[in-house]
Amino acid sequence: MGIETQFRAIVVDRTEDAEGKKTQSSALRLIDDGFLMPGDVTIAVDYSGINYKDGLALMGRPGVVRVWPLIAGIDVVGTVESSTDPRWGAGDRVILNGAGLGETHHGGLAERARVSGASLVRLPAGISAKRAAAIGTAGFTAMLSVLALERGGITPDSGDVLVTGAAGGVGSIAIALLAARGYQVHASTGRADELGGYLRGLGAAGLVDRRTLSDAGKPLQGQRWAAAIDSVGSATLANVLAQMNYGGVVAACGLAQGPDLPTTVMPFILRAVNLIGINSVEAPLPLREEAWGRLAADLDLGLLDGLTEEIGLDEAFGAAERILAGTIHGRTVVDVR
Ligand code: NDP
Repeated sequence: MGIETQFRAIVVDRTEDAEGKKTQSSALRLIDDGFLMPGDVTIAVDYSGINYKDGLALMGRPGVVRVWPLIAGIDVVGTVESSTDPRWGAGDRVILNGAGLGETHHGGLAERARVSGASLVRLPAGISAKRAAAIGTAGFTAMLSVLALERGGITPDSGDVLVTGAAGGVGSIAIALLAARGYQVHASTGRADELGGYLRGLGAAGLVDRRTLSDAGKPLQGQRWAAAIDSVGSATLANVLAQMNYGGVVAACGLAQGPDLPTTVMPFILRAVNLIGINSVEAPLPLREEAWGRLAADLDLGLLDGLTEEIGLDEAFGAAERILAGTIHGRTVVDVR
C-alpha cells in the first residue's frame, strides 16, 4: 500500500497581534506527512469524534490545545499503517483516547496520525471502528467512572445512583452502562421535556431537573444517592455531595457547569462520602485495557447506535459549536476517511 504524502486535517493555530493579543482558530487543511510529530506507530484514521474538549479546541477557546499549530481531536480509531513498536503491526485495528492527543500531540481529526504505541489499545473483537469512536473518550470516561464506583464497593444493591449531565456523551453512556448492570439510575438533565424518552430508553429509572442542583445549597441535605457520576462540577457537584447516603461514592469527571466546587468538609466528615477523581487523559495502559474490555462486555451496541450521530470532517466545526451550546445529545462521530 502506497503512503500518500498529503492528507486532510483540522489544524488549530494561534496568532498574536502587535499588542500581544492571542487568537486561536481552526481550519480544515491539506497537510504533508512531514507535519506529523515523531511517534513509533503511524495510523490510517477511520473515525474520530466530537467531545466537549474538541468543541473548545475547534471554537478557538483556550485550555485544551497547548502547542500550535496542532491537529485537533482527542480520539483516534484506525488501522496501523506502519510501526516500529513490536506490539503493533500493519493492519492492526487500534484506539487511542486522550494521552495528549489534540492537546500536546497531533490528534485524530485527520486522515493520518502518528503516535506512541505505548498507550494504544487493540480494538476489541465485536466492536467496529465506528462504534469504538462512538464510545470515544466520553464512553471511556463513563466506564472509568463505573469502575471507580465498583472499587468504592458500590453494587446495584447499594441504592439509587445519580448521573448528572445526563444527555451528554459521558452521561448517556454512563446511564446505559449502569442500567445494564442492574443499577437504579436517575438522570439529572436540563432537557427532560425534550429528551426524557431518550434517557429512559437508555435505562434511566427516574429523571431529576438539573435546576434543582444548579444553585448553592446546604452542605448537608436529605440522603438520596448511594453513588453518583458527575460530569458537571460546580454547585451541582456540591449539591450531589450534600445528598449522598452515608458512605456514598461520587466519581467526579467533568466541569460542564464550572470548575469550582463550593462545598464544605461536612459530607466527608459527617457522612463518610468518598469523592473520586477521574482522568481519562493519563489513564495507565492496564486501566485502559480493563475499561475497553468492560465496554465491549457491558455496553448494549444497539443503544450505542441509537445515541450516535455520524458526520464528515468538514461538519466538525458545526458540531463543535453545538456541543458548546449544549444543543446536541449523545455522541457525535466523525468519519474522516
Ligand atoms: P457534553 O457536552 O456531551 O455533555 C455535557 C452535559 O452536561 C450536557 O449535555 C448537559 O446535559 C450538561 N450541562 C451542560 N451545561 C451545564 C450547566 N451549565 N449546568 C448543568 N449541566 C450542564 O460533554 P461530555 O459528556 O463530552 O463531557 C462532559 C464533561 O466531562 C465536560 O466538562 C468534559 O470536559 C468532561 N470530561 C472529562 C474527562 C476526564 O477525563 N475527566 C473526559 C471526558 C469529558 P443535559 O442537557 O442533560 O442537562
